[in-house]
Amino acid sequence: MGIIVQKFGGTSVADPQKIHNVAKAVIREKEKGNDVVVVVSAMGHTTDYLIKLAKEVTNNPDSREMDMLLSTGEQVSIALLAMAIQSNGYKAVSMNGQQVGIITENIHSKARIVDIKTEKLKKYLKEGNIIVVAGFQGVTPEGEITTLGRGGSDTSAVAIAAALKADRCDIYTDVEGVYATDPRIVPNIQKTDVISYEEMLELARVGANVLHPRSVETAKQFGVPLRVRSSFKLNNLGTLIIGVENMEIYKPVAGVAADTSQVRILLANLPDIPGTAAKLFGSLAKNNISVDMIIQSLASNGKNSIAFTVDADDLDSAIKILKEDDKDTVKDGEILIDKDIAKVSIVGAGMVDRPGIAADMFKALAEKDINIKMISTSEIKISCLVDKDKSKEAIKALCKEFNLETNEMAIVKGDLPDV
Ligand code: ADP
Ligand code: ASP
Ligand code: MG
Repeated sequence: MGIIVQKFGGTSVADPQKIHNVAKAVIREKEKGNDVVVVVSAMGHTTDYLIKLAKEVTNNPDSREMDMLLSTGEQVSIALLAMAIQSNGYKAVSMNGQQVGIITENIHSKARIVDIKTEKLKKYLKEGNIIVVAGFQGVTPEGEITTLGRGGSDTSAVAIAAALKADRCDIYTDVEGVYATDPRIVPNIQKTDVISYEEMLELARVGANVLHPRSVETAKQFGVPLRVRSSFKLNNLGTLIIGVENMEIYKPVAGVAADTSQVRILLANLPDIPGTAAKLFGSLAKNNISVDMIIQSLASNGKNSIAFTVDADDLDSAIKILKEDDKDTVKDGEILIDKDIAKVSIVGAGMVDRPGIAADMFKALAEKDINIKMISTSEIKISCLVDKDKSKEAIKALCKEFNLETNEMAIVKGDLPDV
């Protein structure tokens, strides 16, 4: 007998019938003799709806009030799931982030978990309850409600699994596991049975939104065995994400992903003196704005330019900071914004020491006449910035180039709504 943490995403709890199906999957795990903690997201597209609602009230909603609003979505689904479990004759109790004691830093809309209290969880488990916890939310030490960023329920689940030293954390979703790319884009894509924490972390960071990146980070840090599996086909084992010892067996490219949530900011005619980059990126960092790809041009006439990407959600704040805090460095009229970009990446631990992989990637994009605007690399990843409307074509070309397709359809037509 062990502790299993299960997480069900929005599509898995989208209506009362699906909530009953989830209750069955939870009870099935309990019946195996395990203690079960279930983490759930808001029903269906509730979070999108709440965001839209706020934007209808004001263009610039306050971040504290946004968290207050968005956290209600998960509170609805935990209560309904607890009721569904109880209606089958099992003991269940729902808990929101504050009731559990999911303590986060004091940042709204993308807070990190700093601690999870386990006393109440352990007490309820000991009393024979199945515990249903609201994902995506936490509370600061001062009692303010926070959220963890879109898709953050995965992170809630893994963090709870780590805190309880659970035997496994199962992320149930609307596809059968982790594929080499989004099966909605390449329907005949290979499924991955086992993937290392490192590769999954990079894939999640570069846009494979099947897992929230911080959930993989937490699983890796605490050694939580993590499974992505189907809510609808409970017997399928899905994909196991674990530490893998033998680096030699890796495929050169394990996966391809695109991130269309970034924008590029180009700062022209900057003074070519020591400290310019430190000042600019220092101001952004102070305001919690993460910068991703960066290139600086070669200087001429004592001037150079720097281009970098940030999350589209951070664009307005970034521009405000550059114009106000950095007005001595950045001149008005020298800030150029490109919103129509996508970052397309290939990831694979096997690309270490294989210099041909980057050239193959550029060739595959060139053959489709896709222009590369920026490039960045890490040990197990290569990313190219391309026009947004070319991102799906780029993914398809790269999957072909690196032999990631199969003869089988990952998704039977009609399984999923198109994106
Ligand atoms: P949930 O609501 O269960 O959290 P998400 O929509 O967040 O579900 O994540 C599941 C979706 O992730 C799938 O429907 C799929 O379209 C998408 N996805 C993107 N990249 C991948 C990948 N490499 N493997 C599997 N699914 C992926
Ligand atoms: N409900 C939140 C969202 O839609 C969190 C999650 O689903 O993981 O982003
Ligand atoms: Mg998700």
